[in-house]
This record gives sequence, C-alpha cells and structure tokens, in this order.
Amino acid sequence: MFTDDFERAELQELDKKHFLHPTSSIEQLQEQGPTFIFAEGQGIYLKDMDGRTVIDGLSSLWNVNMGHGRQELGVAAMEQMSSLGFSSCFANFSHEPVIRLAAKIAQLTPGDLNTTFFTSGGSESNDTAFKIVRHYWILKGQPEKKKIISRKKSYHGVAMGATSATGLKPFRDFTNSLAPDFYYVDSFLPESLRDMIEKEDPDTIAAYIAEPVQGTGGVLPAPKEYFKEVQKICDEYNILFIADEVITGFGRTGKYFGIEHYGVTPDLMSIAKGITSGYIPLGGVVLSERIHQELIELSSGMFLHGYTYSGHPVACAVALKNLELIERERAVENARTMGTHMLKGFERLQQKHEMVGEVRGLGLMGAIELVKDKTTNERFAQPAAPMVVSEAMKRGLICRGVLYEGADTLVFAPPLIITEQQIEEMIDILHDSLTAVGKEIG
Ligand code: PLP
Repeated sequence: MFTDDFERAELQELDKKHFLHPTSSIEQLQEQGPTFIFAEGQGIYLKDMDGRTVIDGLSSLWNVNMGHGRQELGVAAMEQMSSLGFSSCFANFSHEPVIRLAAKIAQLTPGDLNTTFFTSGGSESNDTAFKIVRHYWILKGQPEKKKIISRKKSYHGVAMGATSATGLKPFRDFTNSLAPDFYYVDSFLPESLRDMIEKEDPDTIAAYIAEPVQGTGGVLPAPKEYFKEVQKICDEYNILFIADEVITGFGRTGKYFGIEHYGVTPDLMSIAKGITSGYIPLGGVVLSERIHQELIELSSGMFLHGYTYSGHPVACAVALKNLELIERERAVENARTMGTHMLKGFERLQQKHEMVGEVRGLGLMGAIELVKDKTTNERFAQPAAPMVVSEAMKRGLICRGVLYEGADTLVFAPPLIITEQQIEEMIDILHDSLTAVGKEIG
C-alpha cells in the first residue's frame, strides 16, 4: 500500500530512524537497513516490495502454520470486526467466539486440559502460567511454594517472568534485574531436576516448565522417556508441570501438541503462535480439569489477573477459522509426512557435505549442525551458520542460524502446508548454499 508513495530508500531511512526492531542487531540495522521490506505472502512464499520471492523456511517466527495469503482468515476477521469488534471478558462478560474457541481447545488438547485463560502471545501466556501456579499454591495453603524450575537451553519469551524463566543466558543478560525464584536445570537429564528439587526444598517449588521440543535453543527434541520420568518426579514432590507449547502446539511436530509424542499430560499448557497462524496475536494457558476444579473450590476473592485483550473476539474468530483450516486440510498429518521428507533431505545433505554434522527434527521442526570435522564434531573457529543463512537468503530461502552456547546450527520450520516438491526446493537451495560456504571456508 505504501510502495506507491515511497521509494525503497526512503522507507529504509524511515525504518532506521523511527522503528526499533524487536530482537535485532541495532548496529547492523543502522548500517544496512532492513534486508527485506515484505509486501505480500502466498503459501510458503513471501514477496518483498521489489518483487523478490523467498521461501519462508521458519514460518516467519515458527507461527505461520497454515501459510501466507489465507483469504478465509481475513474474511473471518472482517466479519467479526463488523459485528462485534471488541467487548471485554472481564468479570461476568463473555461473547460467542471466545466461548466456542475455549471449547474447541478443550477438544483438541490432550488429557483433561479443558479450560483456557486467553492472552495475546507466548510471553504473556508463560507469565500468566507462573502467576496461576503461585496463586494456586496460595489457595492450597502453601504460599511458600513459589519457585519455578526451567531448563538451561529454554526460551520462554521476553515478559519479566518469561525472561527470568528463559534458560538461554544472553536473553537474561539483556537486563540487569530479573524476577526472583527462577532456577535452571539440565535440559535432558531428569536427575538434574530431582537434584535441584532436593537442593531447593520441594516445599518451596511451585512448578517446572519445559518446551517439548526446544525451539530457539536449536530444535532439540527431548529424549523419548524424558517427560515420563519428569512427570514422575513432579508427582513425587507435588510440583506442577507446565508445557510450553507456544511453538510446538497446533500441529508443528506432526501431532496437535508436542507433548503427545511423550505420553504425558501437563497440568498447564502455554499456547500461542500457530493458534491463529500468526494472522492476529493470540495466546493462552490451558488448565487441567483438576487445577480448574481446585481453583473453583478454593477461590473466595477475585481472580485478579486479566489483560484488556484476554479473549479478543476478532482474534478468537480468526483462531476458530484457522483451526477449521488445519482440520480440513489435514495439516497435522501433512506436517508429519513432510517432516519425514525434510529430515531425509537433511540426511542427503549430510552425505554430500563435509560440514553437515548431526541432523534432527520432529515433524516440521528441523535442525542441521555445522561442523569442521564430522568425526570429532569440532566446530569452525568462526560459526558457519550465518554464512549459510546469508547464502540461502540470496538464493531464496529464509532460515535461522542458532549460535547460543557454542552451537553452530541451522533451524527450519516451514509452514505445515508445504509440499514434497517445495521441500525439494528448500533442500536444493541448501545444497547450493552449503557448497558455496564449503568453498569459502572448507
Ligand atoms: N515460548 C516459546 C517456546 C517460544 O518459542 C516463544 C517465542 O518464540 C515464546 C514462548 C514467546 O512468545 P511471544 O514471542 O509470542 O511472546
């Protein structure tokens, strides 16, 4: 819409002067300006204002699950805005889209996860989850149970509680004062959780939070038996289990929710992103029937937690339509089969390229480790991932490099509607990009 009015250069200058980008390099933006100024999207592709088309290999921020340009989502938003653009859900007010969406989520989530509190995104969901578990223990007469245990390579968002729970240290170091009562354990060793609980005293611990597959940390699926053991430990010490399904929810891993791969049901589940395919902000915390019943029985005063936009009718209407699309197009099944193709493609790259080490994935979340030496897993002195990302971008594929804690990893999460041919397109671009970088540093 603005491209008729402004030249690209003008927009770049305005961007540099007036727009502080989220999670960005301020220095790089000031030097180079935005790499792409996107104008439209269709399916797995994004097009910028100059007409350059790229594959959105990370579904933007792991969220555009049903792909770009879905008219039906726009129509759902427009219809809802035209009939009831906003009304509050505080106190005793409600509306049909929020009621229908809460019931739909209860139907889709595993076990007895049946009741949803709505937010506008993942960070708010996790902060809400922390407040709800602490409130729960106050109601249960154990107000000293307030510590939250998370895992070392985790990412839970950037609100104060979410930042404090995030195990990836650079996100915590961004600020110099964190919320108290957060502790971090090894990502994949249940015994590390037990040791922390014993050390800190179980009577002071409210909850444990984990992503079924760590996303920002580098696409790290938990080992098969990990969550069963973790659940046993949580039960043994009377600690609530929060699954952070902000990325893994709504089909991303080839099941509706990532935790379903592990045969356990959490007490609370944080959701966001894929619930609307990112078309409009929406998140939530889903509570188990047990927790909800206890809240009902024990509550006497007000439940003093609510965002203005908790249960926004337009966001709920878009989510309902998006969930309908997921079902109608069998997107969860597609994520499973296409995930297998993607991983096979990565394995072919592993055979062809000296610098491709471990490859892994679950559904349409995938990762490629870059190594100097496959046999020893030695890393390059200078990480190679940013070079591959840049070569891939030139050739029409957006993916992300993960460098935290010594990693040199490429991560992928294309839209769930991707086809086998489009997976091949991604793999071909990666092959050419790895060849180019191999020549330069190999
Ligand atoms: N939790 C996880 C696992 C995430 O990956 C993210 C974002 O990437 C968040 C929480 C935070 O969500 P938001 O950025 O919507 O606040």
